[in-house]
Amino acid sequence: MKLKIKHLVIVGFAAGLVFLQSCKDEDGNINIFSIQDDIALGAQVSAELESDPTFKNSIIDSAQRPDIYKYVYGLRDSILNTGLVRYKNEFQWRIRVIKDDSTLNAFCTPGGYIYVYTALIKFLESEDQLAGVMGHEMAHADKRHSTDAMTRQYGLQVLFDIVFGQDKGQLVRIAANIKELSYSRKNESEADEYSVIWLYPTSYNAKGAAGFFEKLIQLGQTGGNPEFLSTHPNPDNRVQAITDKWQTLGGKTGNTYQSRYTTFKNSLP
Ligand SMILES: [Zn+2]
Repeated sequence: MKLKIKHLVIVGFAAGLVFLQSCKDEDGNINIFSIQDDIALGAQVSAELESDPTFKNSIIDSAQRPDIYKYVYGLRDSILNTGLVRYKNEFQWRIRVIKDDSTLNAFCTPGGYIYVYTALIKFLESEDQLAGVMGHEMAHADKRHSTDAMTRQYGLQVLFDIVFGQDKGQLVRIAANIKELSYSRKNESEADEYSVIWLYPTSYNAKGAAGFFEKLIQLGQTGGNPEFLSTHPNPDNRVQAITDKWQTLGGKTGNTYQSRYTTFKNSLP
């Protein structure tokens, strides 16, 4: 009898391993959610975020400032039109620009709801840098890193219970902390890498994200709250990794579009 229980435990454990293995995507990231879950979760998280009046009021109105949205959606489309974004058609890729000049941040929910803060836009110096940072954020969604991050933060058991217990409300509450969610070092590196891969076929300098990290290094800002600084790869290493990736792809020189970016920055409220 003892042996049987032992066997059952082993079989159960093996089944768990097989299940976990089946949850891994092509990039080796664990995902216990379906694409439909990501989309539904993103919609709920964005609704939850925007139910906060302070946050909602800080969103720049697209009806009042269509010029701002035309500009950022143009950047997004350069990336989507490469044909390299796996969930180009499935995810929303909706952008909200947040009027907040003191929060140096940008983030993207599962399913592609992108938030960019004016402090970040004003901090950057050229369009390739913003495209690089947006590529990085979009990669977190496209590569489905938030499940990974939630698993590390809350434990796989909690997520299993939520998914199989159908308590989706709990899931939304967890995911709504996305602004504070810290991605793993591996996820950050992967998002940096895809930022280069996606910008490379466009007319942009594909190392745009490196320009952002170089600026942080110059200012001595190498840690803190922003999504992209929440985990370890230090900015020096990230600049190097981005440059290496760009070299591997062929080292093509691209545009920074600095002057039109300055005009855009000056037009912001
Ligand atoms: Zn990141």
